[in-house]
Amino acid sequence: MNVLLVYAHPEPRSLNGALREYAVHRLEQAGHNVEVSDLYAMQWNPVLAPGDNLAWPAGVRFEASVSSRQALENGTQSADITREQEKLRWADAVIFQFPLWWFSMPAILKGWVERVYAYGFAYGVGEHSDTHWGDRYGEGTLAGKRAMLVVTTGGWAPHYAPRGINGPIDDILFPIQHGILFYPGFDVVPPHVIYRTSKVGEAEFEQACAALGKRLDDLWTTPSIPFRKQNAGAYVIPELTLRPELAAGESGFHIHLDQSW
Ligand code: FAD
Repeated sequence: MNVLLVYAHPEPRSLNGALREYAVHRLEQAGHNVEVSDLYAMQWNPVLAPGDNLAWPAGVRFEASVSSRQALENGTQSADITREQEKLRWADAVIFQFPLWWFSMPAILKGWVERVYAYGFAYGVGEHSDTHWGDRYGEGTLAGKRAMLVVTTGGWAPHYAPRGINGPIDDILFPIQHGILFYPGFDVVPPHVIYRTSKVGEAEFEQACAALGKRLDDLWTTPSIPFRKQNAGAYVIPELTLRPELAAGESGFHIHLDQSW
């Protein structure tokens, strides 16, 4: 299988750097082809801007979505964007690995998503009408591929438990797992989170590698998070609200999980 690891940490000698090395080795030993987009090492430009479309006319009011669609259709995307899209098309599984920074991904990775996820590639895909609101949330360009987050946090696991002060980790990662990964079609497997990183010594590092290795070995067989598909009947279209009889009276991120799973 082909695995793309999109990696965001500025220091190769960091815990993340060591885990990245371990992950690549483990996947390759298992016979997979691995490609790493090491965003800091690549000096990835995270700033979505008119220059992303080489043909955007000077002086014309910049409309990010319009420009993105035209660039994809006409082959005028900046080459760095096209290269990353090709890697995504090549991959059978994609891993985002990053330290949790301010309850989200580092800005360089967010900027990778903003620029690589072009209109017509990751969004604006499929029929858009009052009866079909695009191929998204379970359908789309990246359907059939798997995705997983590997995240390190300074906070302890209980800080991210259902009643922890930081909020549940599944809620914190929901915008990434549901909004960024499930949206363009990925099957998202549960995240691998390494908590309390300041307490990671040699023994904990060995344990962290063993646990990560097991998750990588199981990447193809781990059940994906049962997010509800947009176009499978659970939502009223075009309002895109969950049908009232499902998770009746409830609200919050968890209602978008199929409880019958
Ligand atoms: P490092 O700092 O590189 O290492 C962590 C520990 O692992 C060190 O003690 C190191 O010695 C040890 N280690 C053991 N074995 C190895 C090895 N083989 N190689 C390297 N190191 C090893 N945390 C939260 O919980 N929530 C937040 O919202 C949050 N926001 C943050 C925002 C910013 C801007 C920053 C800088 C940090 C934030 N943090 C937050 C903390 C952050 O998530 C952690 O600092 C990060 O996950 C640690 O990963 P690292 O790779 O940088 O670890």
